[in-house]
Amino acid sequence: MAEPLIPLAKEAGLPICWAQEEGVLDDEAQEDGAQASPGIGMEREDRLALIVAIARAVIAHEEELTRLDQAIGDGDHGVNMRRGFEAVLHEADALAELGTAAALEAIGHLLVNRIGGAAGPLYGTLALSMARQGANAQTLHDWILAFGQAIEDVKRRGKSEGGQKTLLDVFVPVHAVLVEKGAEAFVQLARIAEEAAEATRPMRALRGRAAFLGDRSVGHVDPGARSASLILGVVGRVLCGES
Ligand code: ADP
Ligand code: MG
Repeated sequence: MAEPLIPLAKEAGLPICWAQEEGVLDDEAQEDGAQASPGIGMEREDRLALIVAIARAVIAHEEELTRLDQAIGDGDHGVNMRRGFEAVLHEADALAELGTAAALEAIGHLLVNRIGGAAGPLYGTLALSMARQGANAQTLHDWILAFGQAIEDVKRRGKSEGGQKTLLDVFVPVHAVLVEKGAEAFVQLARIAEEAAEATRPMRALRGRAAFLGDRSVGHVDPGARSASLILGVVGRVLCGES
């Protein structure tokens, strides 16, 4: 059984993606065979750092999200996301006390209740589904699997799929890189997520309010894709030990 990833890296005084690069975890993974994956033993302080960093990033980008939604939607995505993540920030200490899956469940309920619009149920579904799928998750591999299953639930909820100029156009490629590279993907996560959001610019929206604009939705980044890239970028940075 592989050691939990974060404590292991901490013990070595390394941010976790360094640990991976330095081969600290590779030897163990080889010992355990092809199925091995580093455990992702998050402690209270790790969860708190992650929750706070995500919430602050979303809140700090309210204006940008508003501008993007003004261009191809109704201009409320920034306010919606700020409202949801202010609620998360307010509860951050209590949320961090919970285990990772239980924290995700509580966050999911907060997001459904507080974001509103189309994005609330979709982000809420992502968090709630990850909580359910990840209830027994022990390794990073388990969490990546849970993320993939949660994306499928978001697709069902939104009656949508990748390529339709939505937040799924960030979730799907980021998940694919995680499947391919595991913990080594963390160091690239912010860049990959930002490029994926940018790649929605030339797309024609087929779901959400922007779909009403038809061809006029072309030439603008999707607001939900941008908020998804902020969140996943922070996940990558925090798990790499950046603040
Ligand atoms: P609303 O569209 O109700 O004003 P928001 O502005 O908060 O809600 O969120 C808009 C974002 O939600 C879009 O940019 C898009 O990424 C996402 N979205 C909307 N509808 C769907 C859908 N059916 N499937 C996936 N994502 C969607
Ligand atoms: Mg909107």
